Amino acid sequence: VYALALEPVAVMGLGRSGLASARALMAAGAKVRAWDDDAARRAAAEAEGIPLADLGEADLSGTRAMVWSPGIPHSLPTPHPVAERARAAGVPLLCDIDLLAASCRTAFTVGVTGTNGKSTTTALIGHILGRAGQRVQVGGNLGVPALDLEPLSDFGTYVLELSSYQLDLIRDLTCDVAVLLNVSADHLERHGGMDGYVAAKRRILDGVLPPRTVCIGVDDETCRAIHGELVSQDTRRLIPFSAERPIPGGVTTAKGVLVDAIDGRPDRVMDLTGVATLAGAHNWQNAAAAYAACRARGLPASVIAAAIQSFPGLPHRHEPVATVGAVHFVNDSKATNAEAAEKAILCHEDIYWIAGGQAKEGGIDRLEPHLDRIVHAYLIGDAAKAFAAFLDRHEVPYSLCGTLDKAVPMAFRHAVEDDEEEPVVLLSPACASWDQFDDFAHRGDVFKALVADLSRAHDRAG
Ligand code: ADP
Repeated sequence: VYALALEPVAVMGLGRSGLASARALMAAGAKVRAWDDDAARRAAAEAEGIPLADLGEADLSGTRAMVWSPGIPHSLPTPHPVAERARAAGVPLLCDIDLLAASCRTAFTVGVTGTNGKSTTTALIGHILGRAGQRVQVGGNLGVPALDLEPLSDFGTYVLELSSYQLDLIRDLTCDVAVLLNVSADHLERHGGMDGYVAAKRRILDGVLPPRTVCIGVDDETCRAIHGELVSQDTRRLIPFSAERPIPGGVTTAKGVLVDAIDGRPDRVMDLTGVATLAGAHNWQNAAAAYAACRARGLPASVIAAAIQSFPGLPHRHEPVATVGAVHFVNDSKATNAEAAEKAILCHEDIYWIAGGQAKEGGIDRLEPHLDRIVHAYLIGDAAKAFAAFLDRHEVPYSLCGTLDKAVPMAFRHAVEDDEEEPVVLLSPACASWDQFDDFAHRGDVFKALVADLSRAHDRAG
């Protein structure tokens, strides 16, 4: 932020990260002009004294930088007109992570990216480092925006979740440890296809200078290829990890047993199968990544293992909500694509599945091998018809519910009437939430409120 003190700086997008950026820049003495296409957001910014200017019309000459909200498309195929104006005027686009990086050169930084598991891994790393007594600040794409994090100097660690949208913008971040979890098809529309998406994810590696550490998952084809390239050409320290098989020189969590072979000889460190907040092989991948990152940060195996045991978990990620009668309710609203939903489905046998929303490119074909776990599906949102056609083809019973307030009671009724062993009503939508909700957290909260209503009604009746 200080690099831009006294300079004219534009801020485009006034969500939480944009507001935090504008405040931090103003506090550092920059001459801020901010804009958002949404009038309510502009009014909220103005109310706290942030100066506004329509960046679609304002003269941008002399502007040193434009801090861009990662949620707004800025590149092909659908760049926002303000991004094109900035480019034409020679104004560089930055993101809030760049400002944090510029103002905290001496703190340690752990950056985490991947298609799925970013938030869980980021939170888990923060939890482990905190348990080990380190000063740590956790944020970025998850939770607290970068510029609302507390300033840290020597010996403190920022653990930053970095989305592909942020990575697309970042120019100035150096990571001491970078974690690349996995790469599969998601957000392709914004990155102009798979190549653009992979390129954005790879940018996390650009900020890792030798001899710093790259922790990289090797369970998908894209990451395996990147790992192969790094092994043959690179002088950075590499720690590969897998949730599927033993990894020489790396970390494995196959079958839930964490084995550390970073220093050569494989050491069995812990059993993850009893850690309820990290259920499922997908979470074992996250645990392997977090373990590798914390070892790179110098922590001993036993300290990391003890901290993993006490991980409290994150809301909306396979979050156990309640058990009403014999029926378990699980909120996995964060599963916004088929791959994430697949992970939750694999954790259960008798599923009353609530799915749908704004469809993602890639569809849900990959769920086909697991459809025998689904007793009945309850479809909501824009994708309902397409999902229905898929389920018809595979003879899975479903109901077109439209909204969650229809889906939840119906799923519960069916689960009570049937005689399955471990009935689970699972919200794992395999879709974005924007068609009906503010975001996935809103969708999950609505689900939890509906479950609470059911639970109260059930108690009264009982
Ligand atoms: P992100 O921040 O990358 O979106 P989260 O940690 O919030 O990831 O997890 C979101 C959902 O993705 C989880 O509810 C789970 O269904 C799925 N998931 C979590 N970790 C993984 C993983 N390593 N691989 C695949 N899917 C995962």
